[in-house]
Amino acid sequence: MIAADIRYLLPDTAEEAVDAWRRLDGARYLAGGTEIATAARRTAAYDLRTVIDVKRIPEAHVHEIRGDCFRLGAALALSDVAAGDAFPLLTAVLRGIADRTVRNRLTLGGNLAGLLPYREAALPLLLADATVLTIAPGPGDAPPVRQERPLRAIFDKRLVLAPGELVLSFCVPLDAAEWIWSHHRRTRTGEVDYPLAAVALVHDGAGIRFAVSGVHPYPFRADAVDAALSKDGADAIPTVLEALGPLRADARASLEYRVALLKNMIRAGLEELA
Ligand SMILES: Cc1cc2nc3c(=O)[nH]c(=O)nc-3n(C[C@H](O)[C@H](O)[C@H](O)COP(=O)(O)OP(=O)(O)OC[C@H]3O[C@@H](n4cnc5c(N)ncnc54)[C@H](O)[C@@H]3O)c2cc1C
Repeated sequence: MIAADIRYLLPDTAEEAVDAWRRLDGARYLAGGTEIATAARRTAAYDLRTVIDVKRIPEAHVHEIRGDCFRLGAALALSDVAAGDAFPLLTAVLRGIADRTVRNRLTLGGNLAGLLPYREAALPLLLADATVLTIAPGPGDAPPVRQERPLRAIFDKRLVLAPGELVLSFCVPLDAAEWIWSHHRRTRTGEVDYPLAAVALVHDGAGIRFAVSGVHPYPFRADAVDAALSKDGADAIPTVLEALGPLRADARASLEYRVALLKNMIRAGLEELA
């Protein structure tokens, strides 16, 4: 059962949110709340004294072209991002996550920053070399610090954020929308299930970029793999498998099945890009 005496804050600006986080011990940012509510129901040990709802922060809801990128707010629901169709690969990936009703609740920032596995929304953002705008408490009494950094620089299996750092938006270069892309996703049951493997490939005009989730509980992209696939195509599949290291094997799929699935998906993806 979730504790009844939770302090709920609804700041109007990013600065107010960060300031509240700094003042109040144990505060958490709340977006769609799906992961937080599940964790709080599961164990009374989950610290839920204060939640800071990011829903009113305008910067976390941007959904527009700004300069040379699509700016996508971290608090946008996955269904809203997919409906915008600014980046077709992102749309395809998001439509594979949960069902429409659930996607109305799950947010882009929650998918990348949360603890639940797979974080599939990261695949197209990693492939596009998107950047992330965040705001974090400054040192001591200093004002909050905003930073725009490459996603790949602060993504290690999940978004690695400083204490109190809030993700405001992601910036996807406009040319990424023009690239040829391929997306394959396989589950054990029906469409609405976690992936056994989800593979995304793009050709950026100069070479191939590859990202995958499902075979590990987190997304993976590596320059060495991109270079090998660009040079040798399907012949580079053993290199891809080596770079991925031991794949997940569980009650849903054996190691052998996942390896075979992955090989087929990469081959199919490369054919689509050719
Ligand atoms: C039924 C269901 C099916 C799912 N299926 C899939 C799937 O197939 N593939 C997949 O990849 N994922 C899947 N997920 C996971 C889901 O995408 C993420 O858990 C979800 O996006 C969380 O979003 P939220 O807004 O509800 O997060 P919340 O519960 O609000 O927050 C989650 C965590 O992220 C932090 N956070 C949220 N927003 C920010 C921000 N802007 N800045 C900093 N920290 C932030 C919160 O403090 C919290 O720690 C599924 C989830 C559910 C409930």
